[in-house]
Amino acid sequence: MNTAIVGNPLKNYIGGQWVDSLTTRFEDVPNPATGELLSRVPLSTREDVDKAVAAAKEAFVSWSATPVVDRARIMFRFHSLLVKHEDELARMITMENGKNLPEAQAELLRGLEMVEFACGMPTLMMGETLPNIANSIDSQVIRFPLGVVGGITPFNFPVMVPMWMYPIAITAGNTFILKPSERTPLSSIRIAELLKEAGLPDGVFNVVNGAHDVVNGLLEHPDVKAISFVGSQPVAEYVYKTAATNGKRVQALAGAKNHHLVMPDTDLKRAAKTITSSAFGCAGERCMAASAVVAVEEIADELIAHLIEEANALAMGNGLEEGIDLGPVIRDSHLSKVHDYIEKGVASGAALVRDGREEAQKLPDGYFLGPTIFDKADAEMVIVRDEIFAPVLSVMRVKDFEEGLETISRSRFGNGATIYTNNGKWGREFVQQVEAGMVGVNVGVPAPMGFFAFSGWKQSFYGDLHANGKDGVLFFTKKKTVTSRWFEDGDTSIGSQKVFVK
Ligand code: NAD
Repeated sequence: MNTAIVGNPLKNYIGGQWVDSLTTRFEDVPNPATGELLSRVPLSTREDVDKAVAAAKEAFVSWSATPVVDRARIMFRFHSLLVKHEDELARMITMENGKNLPEAQAELLRGLEMVEFACGMPTLMMGETLPNIANSIDSQVIRFPLGVVGGITPFNFPVMVPMWMYPIAITAGNTFILKPSERTPLSSIRIAELLKEAGLPDGVFNVVNGAHDVVNGLLEHPDVKAISFVGSQPVAEYVYKTAATNGKRVQALAGAKNHHLVMPDTDLKRAAKTITSSAFGCAGERCMAASAVVAVEEIADELIAHLIEEANALAMGNGLEEGIDLGPVIRDSHLSKVHDYIEKGVASGAALVRDGREEAQKLPDGYFLGPTIFDKADAEMVIVRDEIFAPVLSVMRVKDFEEGLETISRSRFGNGATIYTNNGKWGREFVQQVEAGMVGVNVGVPAPMGFFAFSGWKQSFYGDLHANGKDGVLFFTKKKTVTSRWFEDGDTSIGSQKVFVK
């Protein structure tokens, strides 16, 4: 990493310059696999936000007037730089987040898809025209950028989640302020450097590091026109309400409890492999992770035996090392909360059939938890009601498909849901009936690619237009409908109107 620019403590990136925050408060950024201190992040102030908004507002004047093809060309150059620096970026993700290198590379790839999507902005931003809607009158819809927009992101995909936002936002002509997670602030700094290298004018992309004060500064600033948020459910709800109260457009993607329904006709070994990868990949810190399995009773014992076997085969450790399947969770404090959940699960009567706490003791410096599996959980237990966001999987047993669907419907979340079956009727019924925005049929992580909307339901999403795809373009642009009529010289009429008679 370019520490000369980044500095330690980290700086903010405002108007194309690396500047010190005005704060006196800082937070440590450790490597979660080792506890080693990587950097210190400033908890920036509202005054820092004001400076960034002023710089972004000034840059908006010329950036929004820059032809969209020229804006897209910068995205093409940015894409090449991302590919060139792929290894460096992936290592940075692994160091600050803990996921293993292949997972970090996959994250980058999913982010690259968003940049590729934004490269098509000349087509995506096209309006609509209908000539002669009345005699000699034409109508057209033109799309405009909104102005200064803000992105507030979580720790679990430090490169990809911001890429759900800024490539579309800035290629559509907005200027952007990113508030990365204070727990994973490093890769955003490298991204800012690469955007500058790609030729992005100063002030178009800004980074203000910090936590609540920066978020509130963005939510309440009159010159910020829209907020895109991704994070936990309570914060998403708060961001949605506060941004809306302050007259902003807002999309807030929230937490999840993704249920996977396993039917008796499926290949159980294959289903267990898929569920294991979904539940324990990225240490369970994915908003699309399988966290609750709903197993039809007649196959539950066999499925659980396969799940335990698959989990036993996972190698846990520092994700920078070869052959590691399972990295740490993000912080010691998070690990303590997860331990509490495990205790609560046991106390509520669920059967702890695989306890990942013991094997974690071999890795005392990092924040590790081995794959943890509960059997005989039910929808009312706190381990099923809450998002734990760790390698903890709860299995519930049900009589049949209908009871499975009913069990899933009791969750307050509706991000992802998957069914494992060979039966087309069940597969189709599940797609139609399940209350979730992203549905998998025999797919463990049914996260849509960048050109589709990323869309949770229920308490997994607050807003209207979802992230990514055409929704993302609609979110970051506003429409103007023009009705026009032109006269010949000397024509004094006000135009004719046709009268329709029944
Ligand atoms: P988080 O809610 O703790 O933090 C997200 C952002 O909000 C951070 O930038 C943080 O600084 C800020 N923040 C946190 N608390 C705040 C407060 N009280 N006031 C103002 N701002 C605050 O989330 P996290 O732990 O970083 O990320 C994990 C969560 O994100 C999980 O719940 C996960 O499901 C969710 N997530 C959802 C999606 C999705 O698409 N629905 C995608 C990724 C992550």
